[in-house]
Amino acid sequence: MKQTMYDCYRSWIEIDLKALQHNIIELISLLDDPQQLMAVVKADAYGHGAVQISQKLNQMGISSFAVATLSEAIELRENNITGDILILGYTDAKQAKLIHQYQLIQTVVDYEHALALEQEQIDIQVHIAVDSGMHRLGLTLAQIQKIKTIYSFQYLHIQGIFSHLCVSDEKTLASQKYTQYQINNFFEIIKELKRDKLDVGKVHIQSSYGLLNYSTLHCDFVRVGIMMYGVYSSKQDQNNNKISLNPVLSLKSKIIHIHHIQKNETIGYGRTYQSDKKRKIAIVPIGYADGIPRDLSNYGYVIVHSQKVPIIGRICMDQLTIDISDIDGVNEGDIVTIIGQDGMANQDVETIAEMSHTISNEILSQLGSRLPRIIKGGQLCKEGIINHINQK
Ligand SMILES: *Cc1c(COP(=O)(O)O)cnc(C)c1O
Repeated sequence: MKQTMYDCYRSWIEIDLKALQHNIIELISLLDDPQQLMAVVKADAYGHGAVQISQKLNQMGISSFAVATLSEAIELRENNITGDILILGYTDAKQAKLIHQYQLIQTVVDYEHALALEQEQIDIQVHIAVDSGMHRLGLTLAQIQKIKTIYSFQYLHIQGIFSHLCVSDEKTLASQKYTQYQINNFFEIIKELKRDKLDVGKVHIQSSYGLLNYSTLHCDFVRVGIMMYGVYSSKQDQNNNKISLNPVLSLKSKIIHIHHIQKNETIGYGRTYQSDKKRKIAIVPIGYADGIPRDLSNYGYVIVHSQKVPIIGRICMDQLTIDISDIDGVNEGDIVTIIGQDGMANQDVETIAEMSHTISNEILSQLGSRLPRIIKGGQLCKEGIINHINQK
């Protein structure tokens, strides 16, 4: 087997920080002020590696982050990420000490949550969630008196108030109307609070699609996730946009075994693939435990030597099989691109999502924790891993 610099990894994620920088510049071009960008790095930055991504963002001057959970927030602080870190989801009030200690900002998800946090008698910063029509988290316009009460709490220091749009990605008239209804609901609450001379703090309602499709809203923050990673949730959204995005993540593996099967032989669990003639097949060490959707069995494809080749048989937990009969000169050790560019061939995550009946967000955030995240152009192997392999 030819030695390559990837020898120490079975499969890996490659992160292109230049693409990240490009996307940030594009997104900021839609804002009045770069500081309005709140980087959503929940779920390990949608599978990209939250610490590496946030460190790069900090270097670029981004100082507002959002995560889903307390432990995600603490991970960032423990890795010296500076600036505001907003926890978008629920945190048990019993954890108030940690919220305080790590200087985090907690979302108040409803009135009972606010009461529980206040009863801890620990000073913490919070943003109030408003339910403007998604019916997930937050207080509603009908609860305006309760919202006002929260502003009078002694231990909750309210730094902001926000809501979330549920159809801002859809361009039908009904969805546009519903989004406008949500926006009106939200700003009605803001108006009511201001009428009482309350300092509402930072106001925000848009995520990626809210920014793209409702860019004239001019809030204090936009919470950008998926588009920062250079990806649209769905394939159809790739066209006709006012900004250009470059995907940050590639997913690669390598061929570890090549062999032939004869006519009428079957492959893998369930014997779902039967060959119509003698075929050359290759085994790739990546499977559904790494986040490859099992729906792509006998359906998806990968790129080898800049050519698309089909996945055949059922995808296993840790491996999959491809048909390389049509390409000459493929060797064990050759690189397989599952997401990303190889020569002229490209496989985008939107296509994989479409073929698996889901959105890019799910594909990316499911990429397994056992895949190393490598910075493109950076150090590819840790010394220890190379040594370990050489000793064998
Ligand atoms: C995940 C999330 C976001 C980011 O959404 P994208 O569509 O990825 O930009 C923003 N706000 C909230 C409340 C979220 O949960």
